[in-house]
Amino acid sequence: MTKDKALSTKLVHTGRNTEVSKGFVNIPPFNGSTVLFKNISHMKEVVEASMKNPSVLSYGTHGGPTHDAFYELMNELEGGVGTWGYATGLAGCVIPFFAFVKAGDHILVTDSVYGPTRDFCENILTKLGVEVSFYPPTIGKNIKGYVRENTVLIFMESPGSHSFEMQDVPAIVSVAKEHGIWTMIDNTWATPMYFNPLKIGVDVVIHATTKYIAGHSDLVMSTATCNKKAWPLVQLVSYTMGQMVPANIVYLAHRGIRSLKVRMEQQTKSATKVIEWLEKQPEVKRILWPAHPKDPGYEIWKRDFKGAAALFGVEFNDSMTDGDIDLLLDSVKLFGLGFSWGGYESLLIRSYGKRSEEDKTNFGKMVRLSVGLEEPEDLIEDLQQALNKIRELKKKD
Ligand SMILES: *Cc1c(COP(=O)(O)O)cnc(C)c1O
Repeated sequence: MTKDKALSTKLVHTGRNTEVSKGFVNIPPFNGSTVLFKNISHMKEVVEASMKNPSVLSYGTHGGPTHDAFYELMNELEGGVGTWGYATGLAGCVIPFFAFVKAGDHILVTDSVYGPTRDFCENILTKLGVEVSFYPPTIGKNIKGYVRENTVLIFMESPGSHSFEMQDVPAIVSVAKEHGIWTMIDNTWATPMYFNPLKIGVDVVIHATTKYIAGHSDLVMSTATCNKKAWPLVQLVSYTMGQMVPANIVYLAHRGIRSLKVRMEQQTKSATKVIEWLEKQPEVKRILWPAHPKDPGYEIWKRDFKGAAALFGVEFNDSMTDGDIDLLLDSVKLFGLGFSWGGYESLLIRSYGKRSEEDKTNFGKMVRLSVGLEEPEDLIEDLQQALNKIRELKKKD
């Protein structure tokens, strides 16, 4: 219905059905296990259809109308044919691997991948006989050199959520296609608003909906949206592995995404102001944010993305000790200290993870900011008073 419409219109109108919701604007959370059939022949008919297509509703583990509505919107935003949901962001990153790999296969995973996804590859896939190599995120078309006879899958994430290197996704996809290799990408940072990997040939796009999509720090969930070729495999594996999200959670994610555009735009505008201020502080060495003209990933970001998220890194110079950074985290009052990002509230934590081998950045000197919906001037004032505290203490030394 909204295929030819603008993104903001799709966000409002797609995945609504007043017949299902009995006239209410939103489709409510349909919680259910048993689906009652009219009679035995109806039961046979539905069960047979659901064997071929697990999204045909015959039991609660297939989802329900709440799920269908949200997945319809995700398909439309990403240009996919099917979406499956998972009960955590991490589950959505890892379960789809099982659709594509078997013992004896080799896979390529970006070195900048979300830490727990790396743990899954290193600790679980290898135990099942899958060979895993990590490639430098900035490798681009030279990923060709990493491809082996038995390479079946490339897993990307651009930018890395702690290290922020951009990847040349079109170049990597074209190498993958030459060799008949599947591609998956964790697209959580960009959201479906700013980058649509399926449209340039990626097979599976994953979103930790926990972050911007839900946007209110009140749930964990993810989606894997697939192209035509990948969908039957991902769907079957996800169903067979018992993956399902409670309808209440899907409902909240759907409610959250309705305001995605206004939230993202506002948060990025505020992040820009915070960055402009941070850059002027003598303790700051550089900002890690692909939308910054000085960022090494800027050209690729400008070429491939329609916008930037309000999540970025700050590297300090040697004037900031470990203790100073701890004091900064302890002294801010508006920024929360905690995991996750993309919610309506600002967060400030230490950066974890790893930049590529070429870039020997010391992660100990880095923090990560997720800018929320507060007034940017208030956020700047908060950072200012925290930095002042550190400067005062240094003067006394
Ligand atoms: C947070 C995050 C995930 C996992 O989401 P959870 O809901 O916390 O499990 C996956 N990928 C990226 C890039 C993330 O930031």
